[in-house]
Amino acid sequence: MILDILFPNRCIHCNRIIDGNVLVCNLCIEHIHFTHFDYHKNNFIKEKCTLLFPVENAFALMQFEKENLSRKIVHELKYKSREKVGKIIADWTTERLDFKNEKPDLLVSVPLHQKN
Ligand SMILES: [Zn+2]
Repeated sequence: MILDILFPNRCIHCNRIIDGNVLVCNLCIEHIHFTHFDYHKNNFIKEKCTLLFPVENAFALMQFEKENLSRKIVHELKYKSREKVGKIIADWTTERLDFKNEKPDLLVSVPLHQKN
């Protein structure tokens, strides 16, 4: 399409032109701080949730830290309403979790502030 030529998809981190179905380039994806928690019994997300309500499994896809790429990704979804970002985050989540054998008690699309 002509729009793809005039306005190509760009990496949200380094601004390189990338495939239209991805969010970041192959170099920048290495900078995303994935938690690799899966459903590990001892992770700090479960520990924090357990203080608030009973939970068996807890999962966080990325570590949300000030000035990191994970924060930028969440802000693309939250403040720029880029639906594609939500689909990509969902794809990354389903790649990491085995929904056939273990069902999560709760899924949250974006990190919540501790006051919520
Ligand atoms: Zn990049």
